[in-house]
Amino acid sequence: MTKILGIIGGGQLGMMIAEAAKDMPETVSKIIVLDPTKNCPAAQVGAEQIVADFKDRDAIIELSEKSDIITYEIESGDSNVLKSVEKNAEINPSPETLHIIQDKFLQKTFLKEHGIPVPEFIEISNIQDVKEGLKKFGYPALLKARRDAYDGRGNFKIDSEEMIQTAYDYFEGQKLMLEKFVPFKMEVSVIAARNTKGQIKTYPLVENIHEDNILRQTIAPARVSQEITKNAEIIASQTMDVLKGAGVFGIEMFVTQNDQIVINEIAPRVHNSGHHSLQSSKTSQFKQHLLAILGLDLGDTKLIHNTIMYNILGSKGFEGKYQPIKIENNNIFLKMYGKEISKPLRKLGHLNIVGTNDESIDQLLEKLESIKEKTIVKQSN
Ligand code: ATP
Ligand code: MG
Repeated sequence: MTKILGIIGGGQLGMMIAEAAKDMPETVSKIIVLDPTKNCPAAQVGAEQIVADFKDRDAIIELSEKSDIITYEIESGDSNVLKSVEKNAEINPSPETLHIIQDKFLQKTFLKEHGIPVPEFIEISNIQDVKEGLKKFGYPALLKARRDAYDGRGNFKIDSEEMIQTAYDYFEGQKLMLEKFVPFKMEVSVIAARNTKGQIKTYPLVENIHEDNILRQTIAPARVSQEITKNAEIIASQTMDVLKGAGVFGIEMFVTQNDQIVINEIAPRVHNSGHHSLQSSKTSQFKQHLLAILGLDLGDTKLIHNTIMYNILGSKGFEGKYQPIKIENNNIFLKMYGKEISKPLRKLGHLNIVGTNDESIDQLLEKLESIKEKTIVKQSN
């Protein structure tokens, strides 16, 4: 029986889920996305669109009435509204799981209570709490918005006492937490999936390099010892054991100076650090997400080729239309998201450099260097 799939959010993640769904016509007959931007990336690949804010109650109700199953590409949806429309459509991951994950403080409290390592953190209700917390953690520490943060925009690093007031004022009115700074050796992540029947599969550990608080590059597999890889995989599977809900989850972690793993955060959705899977694995994370929420057997997650994923980000210097990016090279897969306007550091596309001929990570990194110039986003004339 075919199903109508509703997706909250029609940006690049929704677009790539929609593309994966188009390859499963026997299972998904139609895709509807809810997104405030007219002709959003997912609509450009054939999804029907409801143009409305992600939190628009009426629009979510409309989506649920039109869909058999609902998923999301962003974690900022209203979990109460989603809960109330469960009678209309199945929602995966569940609104309960979304509720825990979308609040970084609740999420970390949940993980800590289940014995999963996280950085030290406290809840912040007033500026005095920040001062107390800094006495405990020392400098630097991160003041974080508990909700609706992405691409590092909800974080303020406090390096000294003089910065406390500025940091606190920056978040005016938002719910906050304070977190100890982890001087990590490396950032890594695991993409994990669980289907509605409880089957779990994880993709191999990858290494993530951030610039300006945004993911710039993912290296698959991560260049760490087998011991660290194993430890990260154990922690990822412990996390999946305690976290309910079907779908793909992105589990971001730090490798500490003494080679321990702590979780930074979990995304209840497909994740930028899993884009390599479009070419590096038999099953992309987008296909896997669909298999998971539709209750089908999960696909193979083995890494077939070393792969580097490099994000194409809007240049810092301008906002507006940009020149097309062109890269013609065997085994380099460019994916642009169809966004008309570039903004500083906006995610406009990515490329996967795939080691189809058994190239080492170093060789792939050299290849990336040789084409980086072509990925610079320039204003169109
Ligand atoms: P994104 O959407 O990019 O995943 P976000 O806005 O939800 O991010 P976080 O993942 O919490 O924010 O943080 C963004 C980046 O800031 C992390 O990838 C890491 O580089 C850095 N960071 C966050 N927390 C800490 C910490 N406790 N210690 C050191 N660095 C941190
Ligand atoms: Mg993050």
